[in-house]
Amino acid sequence: MRLSPAARLCDAGADMGHHCCAHKMEDLLARLEAACRAGGQRVTAPRRRVLEAVARAAEPVGAYAVLEVLPDLHPPTVYRALEFLEGAGLLHRVASRSAYMVCGAARAHAGTQFLICDVCGHVEVAPAPALPAALVAQAEGAGFAPTRWATELHGTCAACRGGKTDA
Ligand SMILES: [Zn+2]
Ligand SMILES: [Zn+2]
Repeated sequence: MRLSPAARLCDAGADMGHHCCAHKMEDLLARLEAACRAGGQRVTAPRRRVLEAVARAAEPVGAYAVLEVLPDLHPPTVYRALEFLEGAGLLHRVASRSAYMVCGAARAHAGTQFLICDVCGHVEVAPAPALPAALVAQAEGAGFAPTRWATELHGTCAACRGGKTDA
């Protein structure tokens, strides 16, 4: 893609209309605290800072982009924090990008759907509460009980389909 991951990080805060606006960040930090408490753990500074860094990014970011804005953290610390935050349901991992984005849903959900624009790189994420019947039937046929799933749909977003180009 045309952007380096770091270029997608913004520190605009509340005024830019990004998902990083102040009250959303407060909600996220409250969810982080609840997740840590539920696991009998503390909110460590790296977990909080990594969550904030991903939340401020305009698009999904990988560990390297996080390290660029948090250069005082060691890579393993960042990897562990990202894994913890994903496990706690605060972040989603976009597998094909090896990148993370904030979960905007109020509570943890088993299924996730990503809409990935292959033209501009934008990713939309939404809960996917139900698996398609064909997949359920296949899993049942194999005696398999699904507990979570993520679907990546690749294609062209509405803005790009409208003929808008940024190249
Ligand atoms: Zn989510
Ligand atoms: Zn697009």
